[in-house]
Amino acid sequence: MGAYQCEKRHWLSVFEPERATKLTDAELERMAQGTHVTELARKRWPNGVLIEGKNSLEAVELTRQALSAGATVIFEAAFLVGGLFARVDVLERMGRRNRYRVIEVKSSLDLKPEKHIPDIAFQVHVVQQSGLDVTDAAVLTLNREFRCGDDLKDLFDEGWVTNEGRTKDVRQVWKRVRKALPEVKEAIARARAVEARSTAPDIEVGRHCRTPNECPYLAHCEASRHIWHVSRLPRIKKQQEAELREAGVHTFDALPDSFDLSPLQRRFVRAECEGVPYVGERLAEVLEGIAYPLAFIDFEAVQPGLPVFRETQPYERIPFQWSAHILSHPDAEPKHLEFLADEGSDPRFGFAGTLREAIADAATLCYYSSYEPDTIRGLAQAGIPHAGPMVDLMAERGLDLLDVVRDHLYLPEFRGRFSIKTVLPALAPGFGYSDLQIQGGDHAQLVFARMIRGEIEDVAATRTALLDYCCRDTEAMVIVFRALRRLAGLNPE
Ligand code: SF4
Repeated sequence: MGAYQCEKRHWLSVFEPERATKLTDAELERMAQGTHVTELARKRWPNGVLIEGKNSLEAVELTRQALSAGATVIFEAAFLVGGLFARVDVLERMGRRNRYRVIEVKSSLDLKPEKHIPDIAFQVHVVQQSGLDVTDAAVLTLNREFRCGDDLKDLFDEGWVTNEGRTKDVRQVWKRVRKALPEVKEAIARARAVEARSTAPDIEVGRHCRTPNECPYLAHCEASRHIWHVSRLPRIKKQQEAELREAGVHTFDALPDSFDLSPLQRRFVRAECEGVPYVGERLAEVLEGIAYPLAFIDFEAVQPGLPVFRETQPYERIPFQWSAHILSHPDAEPKHLEFLADEGSDPRFGFAGTLREAIADAATLCYYSSYEPDTIRGLAQAGIPHAGPMVDLMAERGLDLLDVVRDHLYLPEFRGRFSIKTVLPALAPGFGYSDLQIQGGDHAQLVFARMIRGEIEDVAATRTALLDYCCRDTEAMVIVFRALRRLAGLNPE
């Protein structure tokens, strides 16, 4: 229920749902994966009754009939009470005393209390209001010890699982849900009050827009936010934001002198308010210190919730593709090398073996963000041959180009962002990704996952599109690197 996060969100979802950002194909794919996981979880209860129905009302009626017929386990049980509708992944009758347990299936490894408990508490509230005696709740999450090839009955963990650790104490879930029930009632009351309004509540964009989930109306709300709103200050702390709000300061052109700006925030404010770019004094020194051959590398990987390659675990990162552009000296023509796995077998072995050979002679390994070293570390932990030595190579010769940009450059066109897709066109107008069939990492992952499942008809064309995309990433790094050198006065225009 959106009112948990923000009353404006709830108002928009009722009266102007068309303002929500449309889900991407990659997000739809993740949702489909979640549905598949829920279906697999049903195998734990062979006698369960699945509620389908053409619409919500029919599902509610079928649920009523299943309960009357004495069903002990119902999948997708539907309830509608006082305008509140809830659907329960698994409703289980416990013992003979007509007590029920609500079970939520999550396709994640951890239970995220701030996100999941309110959802379950809402379901419990609605089912209780329908007259059933709900006295327990549980969550099934994916078992991180599960490995592809194990018995599917071991795919799930039941109980209280968090990022910090796990406990099999299932009572923790019910304890938290019970504690959250009064908040559900308050949220429902707030939602009803908001529904009586003819206009959306005046709520500014803030941290709450991304917690516990990114609000689907974020783009809509940001469009009406002042262009210099303080919430756009990079890495502004919660406390600082609250203090400024309290002092009535809403835009960063009006910051008091006493406000302690970090160097990055200072560059950001100058670039935004005065259009002044920043080129750090040490940029030339940093770039001159780079050893050659210099290899720019970029990877693509999938992370299937349901592992598909033998011995892999849920959400294990499986790199399937790399691209490298190698410069023998700053002005040399880059040499391009690449690898894209066959979709039929575990890609990690070919990935690691070919990459190690390609980068063996590089004196500097340049990547953009920690994704590449993290991926190699993951391969080494999984015992993939050649990955261990590459961890050492990365430690000795690695250079994060993102750090170089972030620490030594700021252009007004960055608008507070440093992704390669923002930095590239800002530094080299005319260059970008818009001419490519695949234009983002999410899309590349989705396409490769579909190739693994045999859902792609024109495999040859799709492989070309994947190669083009990954190649563009390392090409972009070369362009950014050379633009940095020009700005530092090291390369002629
Ligand atoms: S983007 Fe933020 S302010 Fe706007 S509706 Fe969503 S949560 Fe509320």
